[in-house]
Amino acid sequence: MSEKQYSPALPPATLGVMGGGQLGRMFAHAAQSMGFKVAVLEPSSDCPAGQAADSMIVAGYDDQSALAALGAQCVAVTTEFENVPADSLALLAQQTFVAPAAQCVSVAQDRLLEKRFFVDCAPLSGVMPAPHKTIASTEDIDAIPDDLLPGILKTVRMGYDGKGQVRVKTRADVAAAFAAMNGVTCLLEKMLPLAYEVSVLTARGADGESVVYPIAENVHRDGILFTTTVPGPNVSDECALRAQDAARSIVAQLGYVGVLCIEFFVLQDGTLVVNEMAPRPHNSGHYTIDACVTSQFAQQVRAMARLPLGDVRQHSPAIMLNILGDVWYEGSGDAVREPDWAKVLALPGACLHLYGKEEPRRARKMGHLTLVAPSLAEAHAKLRSACAILN
Ligand code: ADP
Ligand code: MG
Repeated sequence: MSEKQYSPALPPATLGVMGGGQLGRMFAHAAQSMGFKVAVLEPSSDCPAGQAADSMIVAGYDDQSALAALGAQCVAVTTEFENVPADSLALLAQQTFVAPAAQCVSVAQDRLLEKRFFVDCAPLSGVMPAPHKTIASTEDIDAIPDDLLPGILKTVRMGYDGKGQVRVKTRADVAAAFAAMNGVTCLLEKMLPLAYEVSVLTARGADGESVVYPIAENVHRDGILFTTTVPGPNVSDECALRAQDAARSIVAQLGYVGVLCIEFFVLQDGTLVVNEMAPRPHNSGHYTIDACVTSQFAQQVRAMARLPLGDVRQHSPAIMLNILGDVWYEGSGDAVREPDWAKVLALPGACLHLYGKEEPRRARKMGHLTLVAPSLAEAHAKLRSACAILN
């Protein structure tokens, strides 16, 4: 079926989501506020998106009868989890409109395909990925060029939040790290001198129209996003334009439909390097819920429903702080207690989002807090207050 056969989907039709995490939950909230119904397919019955959805199918992502049931009730299906089998999205596409498409998601699921795609895009996008080499055997380790070290060994598939990554200085380090990954194919990436990190959130409709949100500056701690600040304090207008143009070119070349986020590194000499892309709403785009006319989740609804894309204008400077399970713990012990939400909620301009997860494990994303203010300096002051309360 070609995309042209589909007319816009309107409320109260049902939209489907593959995956039950917090991105699916916030998607459900946005879709429901526009009058759509939401169905979630996810293997675990108690999940953040399931708590919010109108209906839930508890099944594996590759369960064919479950996929058929989801496809039958939904006018369109999207994914909130990038490691959903691409074959499942292809199967759903025989029944209903699927955005993003299986082939786009499969590129983003594989760091190697993703890097090759970025290289292919470079003549038009103007940005290259970090120098890298595939490590699939011990012979590959012997053939590592000297200038790729020190580097980071990353598993080609299933990595996120810094998981599946080891920093390496020597060939012996690479050999040890590769052996510890149990022989899965990896990518060795040169360690680059980062000045700061940014991401560009985009959305593209089935008609090829695209929008680009303001550039976001991201700070990571232990491989996990810590804060997103928009406008970014280090980002020059020239850098923002380059990154936004590159992102627009990349989504067009991918033929993508839906919300997509592209992470970039800005090096100390000002070079822009494309890192990776997420074929879904992204943690660094959560600020859009409280600080933009159209949130990234409402935008996903619009793209998959073939509705006109929404206004991406930001109306307030904003800082998003991830709330990890760590803040439930006092010190390094095992005792947990609820953070002081009363104090957090008393901060003017603090928008609290909790994902309904029961168990506050360390390093687990439990929620986020967006601090909006008339100026970035005021948002920073609120961030300091929030951190003092949560620490
Ligand atoms: P993940 O899928 O876990 O987000 P990334 O490739 O984005 O994986 O890596 C996580 C973080 O590690 C990045 O945001 C960046 O801070 C750091 N990092 C990754 N690759 C490099 C690199 N080549 N040079 C320097 N830092 C890097
Ligand atoms: Mg990343």
